[in-house]
Amino acid sequence: MAQQFPTQARVVIIGGGIIGCSVAYHLTKLGWTDVVLLEQGQLSGGTTWHAAGLVGQLRSHANMTSLIKYSTQLYSELEAETGLATGWKNCGSLSVARSADRMTVLKRTAASARAQGVDIEVISAREAQEKWPVMAIDDLVGAVWLPGDGKANPTDLTQSLAKGARNRGARVIERVRVTGIQTKDGRATGVSTDKGDIAAEIVVNCAGQWARKVGAMCGVTVPLHSAEHMYIVTGKIEGVHPDLPVLRDPDGYIYFKEEVGGLVMGGFEPEAKPWGMKGIPDDFEFALLPDDWDQFEILMQNALIRVPQLETSEVKKFYNGPESFTADNNFILGEAPELKNFYVGAGFNSMGIASAGGAGRALAEWIVNGAATMDLWPVDIRRFAGFNNNPRWLHDRVKETLGLHYAMPWPNRELDTARPFRRSALYDRLAAKGACFGSKMGWERANWFAAQGEKPETQYAFGKQNWHEAVKREMKATREASGIFDQTSFAKILVQGRDAARVLNRICAADIDVEIGRSIYTGLLNERGGYESDLTVMRLGRDKFLLVTGSAQAVHDADWISKNVPEDAHVTLTDVTSSYAVLALMGPRSRDILTKLTSADLSNTGFPFATIREIDIGYATAYANRMTYVGELGWELIVPTEFAIGVYEALHEAGRVHGLADCGYYALEALRIEKGFRAWSRELTPDITPYEAGLAFAVSMDKPDGFIGKEALVAAKAKGKLTRRIVQFTVDDAAPMLWGGELILRDGKPVGEVRSAAYGHTLGRSVALGLLHNEAGIDKDFIESGRFEIDLAGERYTATAHLKAPYDPKSERVKADSTELHEAA
Ligand SMILES: Cc1cc2nc3c(=O)[nH]c(=O)nc-3n(C[C@H](O)[C@H](O)[C@H](O)COP(=O)(O)OP(=O)(O)OC[C@H]3O[C@@H](n4cnc5c(N)ncnc54)[C@H](O)[C@@H]3O)c2cc1C
Repeated sequence: MAQQFPTQARVVIIGGGIIGCSVAYHLTKLGWTDVVLLEQGQLSGGTTWHAAGLVGQLRSHANMTSLIKYSTQLYSELEAETGLATGWKNCGSLSVARSADRMTVLKRTAASARAQGVDIEVISAREAQEKWPVMAIDDLVGAVWLPGDGKANPTDLTQSLAKGARNRGARVIERVRVTGIQTKDGRATGVSTDKGDIAAEIVVNCAGQWARKVGAMCGVTVPLHSAEHMYIVTGKIEGVHPDLPVLRDPDGYIYFKEEVGGLVMGGFEPEAKPWGMKGIPDDFEFALLPDDWDQFEILMQNALIRVPQLETSEVKKFYNGPESFTADNNFILGEAPELKNFYVGAGFNSMGIASAGGAGRALAEWIVNGAATMDLWPVDIRRFAGFNNNPRWLHDRVKETLGLHYAMPWPNRELDTARPFRRSALYDRLAAKGACFGSKMGWERANWFAAQGEKPETQYAFGKQNWHEAVKREMKATREASGIFDQTSFAKILVQGRDAARVLNRICAADIDVEIGRSIYTGLLNERGGYESDLTVMRLGRDKFLLVTGSAQAVHDADWISKNVPEDAHVTLTDVTSSYAVLALMGPRSRDILTKLTSADLSNTGFPFATIREIDIGYATAYANRMTYVGELGWELIVPTEFAIGVYEALHEAGRVHGLADCGYYALEALRIEKGFRAWSRELTPDITPYEAGLAFAVSMDKPDGFIGKEALVAAKAKGKLTRRIVQFTVDDAAPMLWGGELILRDGKPVGEVRSAAYGHTLGRSVALGLLHNEAGIDKDFIESGRFEIDLAGERYTATAHLKAPYDPKSERVKADSTELHEAA
């Protein structure tokens, strides 16, 4: 008997591609069996069916790698559970290098793979050819071999996941189109479909390239854009057999895998072809786009170099399918900040098959637990804001993001397209001074300043780059005179209301219920005691707090805070990022400079460290917060946007005789790492506690009403040992340049990875903050008695571990307080 169309379910999933099916599979595995999955056509008929099926494990972020490692495990076991084959073949993969720089990338990859527990071997071109005899190797420098990689059949995998979900009670219904999302009081409450309405506690948008449109049904931003993605399938080629590994040749933008004795050859060309500008047709099911040999030519030419036999082999089929891409080439996961109980898993950037197992599990856990269970920031939906959904901007950006898969992953690579996007009021002035801009959260930010006659263009390399001397100048100015940094991109959130102090004090780990005019550095912790954010809370009034947080964290932090505000509390949040510029004046001469422009008392007693005052600066009235991110005397000037230029000009006028210099983000990064200051998303993540981060001072364990995460910290303390810890390192040799991501060894054994690194010109060597891991515990003795080395693309350099920052300001120190955010005066 035909089942009746459901009218309610605990969870409704929209989309029967591999992602939706994986979410259904994992929800039911976690015991949530009242799940309905709706597919407008047939399962896998959207993008999934025509995927090439490559499953490569290695990603630049350890947790992203761990998601795919889990995918490979799941795909190898699924058939045994469901009885439906998945086409999974653990054939391994090779990546080859045509240049020395690419070989450096592969060696760096190998080192970080080891840090992430992925099997990898650096091999010669000849050894690679032994594993892949049909390739020409004359132009190759070397290769890496990943035995754990593989390939799968996307459609079979989807069916198998759906079967697993069905077996545990989920209903998978094809030929039902979701036409609207029902909401009440800021929550999703169900869906409308062409077959009727379904009430639901949770709605999950896994609608692939339609996910942007589904999001728009309920005001949720899902910033993705489709682009054409192509591969060919050849007839049989001699020497090609089913166990042939997957081959990637990123310098040629191409990949290969075996299929029925022939080759699948596709790739990621440097300039992609956006598609679907007028929307994606609803009935685009098991459909392809017309062959485009012109667009494919660059891939074909490179493929002929690698596999000369292609010259004479038959092309049996040309697949040109659209896939959705995002602005940063990472997928979009999590609960929408605009609508509670509405989750998104979409925008898979041609990695959906590889990612589906892990991403589906991560999203299911997020739904069941009401919060992510691991650090998922690289893919977190809250890294995007409403303005990222601008269609023209997305269109122009995805031309570049598709190609990023195989583009040279220079350590500080900036994206070039769809810029400038967001500009501070000072943009033109900084440009005129020789600023070389980078981009963060869409903001154009000065990375470094070129000297007169020098071109403000970064020339990428793995060693020291062309801005090395510029950053040295800027660091010296900040340490010995003063630097001015445009930090307007900081996100700023005003928290106000009768209950603001009480509620914020539960959300912040430090005590922020302090007297008016104090600035408090604090973490926002999750229930696991990990960092959801770290920021500065400035008390402007009894019921008024200004929060200044990282440039990329505006949406994330506002979401985290509002989700933790009780429904009956009187608290409002306002994003005031665009209202204020932030000019940071930092360095020993800062007081001398600012004194000339203000009537305010800037002395240590009149304006102590960690306080905020509204002061006059030239003609402007602005907030001055005495705190810096570089460990020197200084103020962050929070200036109404329209006064920013005036303050900037006045500071320069006053600072000329004191050696005031414009400085950029590369100098800032190096200065903060020298001081051992931690940064969110690098050292501070949702998986790291203040104890592991060495920031216990910024936690108030004895606040009367406690704070979110306190119980986890109490439990961690009771354990009595730390198995992970952030530790600062300097490389003993002054020559090498670290970038982050490098493997750390202790007495020859892998023990962690570098999270942030820079060349510390004040110290005359590379300086880094690394995360160490040791099950037996990491104490002072472990750090002091070990012989540490850092693996830099296969070369090991000895490094010194520091429990206290090795940089100590030359200028007279007011107080070496325990806060680590100390400064010299
Ligand atoms: C040529 C090509 C090669 C690729 N190769 C690889 C590869 O080798 N490895 C890899 O990892 N990835 C690869 N990919 C990427 C991979 O195919 C995708 O990332 C993945 O299939 C995305 O899955 P999805 O479930 O998000 O989307 P989809 O498969 O598109 O599923 C979304 C579903 O939602 C349904 N839907 C939309 N709107 C509604 C609605 N309103 N109501 C009901 N249902 C709706 C659609 O009909 C669709 O079936 C490739 C992609 C292409 C184009």
